[in-house]
Amino acid sequence: MDLLIINASELVTVAGGSQKPVTGRQMRELGIVRNGGLAVKDGKIVAVGKTAEVTKAFKAENIINANGKTVLPGFVDPHTHMIFAGSREDEFQMRIEGASYMEILSAGGGILKTVRETRRASVEKLVELGIETLNVMLEHGTTTAEAKSGYGLTTKDELKILQVIQRVNQLHAVDVVPTFMGAHALPPEFQGSTQTYVDLVVNEMIPRIAEKNLAEFCDVFCEKGVFGLEQSRRILAVGRNCGLKLKVHADEMSPLGGAELAADFGAASADHLLFASDEGIEAMAEKGVVAVLLPAAAFSLMSGHYADARVMINRGVAVALGTDLNPSCFAENQQLVVAFACHLMRLTPAEAIIAATINAAHAICRAGEIGSLEVGKKADVIVLDVPNHKFLGYCLGVNVVDKVVKNGRVVVDKEAQRGEFPILKE
Ligand SMILES: [Zn+2]
Repeated sequence: MDLLIINASELVTVAGGSQKPVTGRQMRELGIVRNGGLAVKDGKIVAVGKTAEVTKAFKAENIINANGKTVLPGFVDPHTHMIFAGSREDEFQMRIEGASYMEILSAGGGILKTVRETRRASVEKLVELGIETLNVMLEHGTTTAEAKSGYGLTTKDELKILQVIQRVNQLHAVDVVPTFMGAHALPPEFQGSTQTYVDLVVNEMIPRIAEKNLAEFCDVFCEKGVFGLEQSRRILAVGRNCGLKLKVHADEMSPLGGAELAADFGAASADHLLFASDEGIEAMAEKGVVAVLLPAAAFSLMSGHYADARVMINRGVAVALGTDLNPSCFAENQQLVVAFACHLMRLTPAEAIIAATINAAHAICRAGEIGSLEVGKKADVIVLDVPNHKFLGYCLGVNVVDKVVKNGRVVVDKEAQRGEFPILKE
């Protein structure tokens, strides 16, 4: 064997949810093995069980002793806008002082500032920034992340961002799954003619991107004042015809029917859902559309309003969690998202862990290879410096990751990097 992980006080397998997303009461079943261990060969998990069984059957030079620690599948982050240039800390202060997202957007700020800066940035610069972001994500336990375009908003710049995503995926240990989101905002040069921009998205952008195989998903910001239901419908239809799987930014700021739209199209996920209607939630449950909830984004909007995760789980919708990392929600850390989900949406730690691992993998159609610790899956494993899984969510604002194993290779080792601790006065 290449690697054994042994003696975990809890080995949280999240097993059994690879075929279809985990729903309802099943979201409380983590498949925990106490004093657990696993064996890794050629980047894959080859055995999972009690430490005694694993060490009896397998030998390896490289052994992680997880005594007193909790072992989990690497986090999957199914919703990020991680490729962008610049930052928006000034706007953050405006928001604290009461300006709304839409007011900032109308004043040419918000997303449009990021679009200007991202258009000006070179591929090399964006790759460099993307790598830095992925380093932070990996240190916090994320081993696979989705990444959307949408700060270019011209054919050339959207292609550029998707090429950056492709490049960082080739370079960095974290696997990055590309989504085209040309319909993220109306670019300034199309003000007042949304329809003309939608024409560009469907007639030029989507076919070019599909032909070059630069995206796996097509997403749209379906929102009052951004892209309406009919425009979103057109974009999703063309995306689907060009072979892309679908996602929808749905019902984030107003109840527009985005959840219903995602269900109509059999989308892989509908995301945000703060204002999803009862009918929309029912339709999502029926069609198996994953609800990707983004409490860090809702938190950063400062409205005090969150998606109703409890109602969704009760109605049989599979709930997943993502960061929504973007310049107005500067959050790379899925542990923080898990804590927000527990504190602000009343998920139990078990439900939040399912949501940030196997259900998140379903939201990006990767549940066959990641999202749980099961034989045959990629050895994407995190070792947490806490004695049981309930500390996730309970710990606020600290990074409890001790080690990250990606494709069977130890890529983060805080214990080894920590140096001399404790630091005493003398
Ligand atoms: Zn988003």
